[in-house]
Amino acid sequence: MVKSKFVMPGDRVGYAEEFLAGEGVYEENGELFAAVAGETVVEDRVLKVKPIKELPKIVKGDVVLGRVVDVKNSMALVEIVRKKGFDRELMHTGIATLHISNVQDGYTKDLSNSVGYMDIIKARVVDENRLSLSTKEPEMGVIHSICSVCKTPMVKEGDKLKCPNCGKVELKKISKDYGTGEW
Ligand SMILES: [Zn+2]
Repeated sequence: MVKSKFVMPGDRVGYAEEFLAGEGVYEENGELFAAVAGETVVEDRVLKVKPIKELPKIVKGDVVLGRVVDVKNSMALVEIVRKKGFDRELMHTGIATLHISNVQDGYTKDLSNSVGYMDIIKARVVDENRLSLSTKEPEMGVIHSICSVCKTPMVKEGDKLKCPNCGKVELKKISKDYGTGEW
């Protein structure tokens, strides 16, 4: 019995020696890959990917994971990649915004001292129509970050992040879940 799992196009789903490529699956050099986003299904040694069309709607109050794709003066643009309680990656959900006033309690002078380009943040949706996020709660904020100099994953040191490779220190609004693998 092969456990069904959610895959994205290009994900390796198996090997040609185990399965025949069915609908939504293609073979390349003995490996099987998903051609569509969906759920893997095995029937009589035929591996298929059943496409998923319906993705969950993001609503106010949801906790999401997002990748910071741009940091401007007063807001960061965040591509939502996960929604808590939904065990699959989201695609094309849209670009959410994290306004400087929603980053943390109190006054934030410089947004770039709170989130950085390509950081993964955990945030709460505060407005579903405009896809506005907040990271004010202690468990919200940056949950994964790589060093802007040498691309090494940063480690949490007190209320800062430090690169274990080159020693660079960065200020961030850090989630209390940073580095735990939980979110
Ligand atoms: Zn570094």
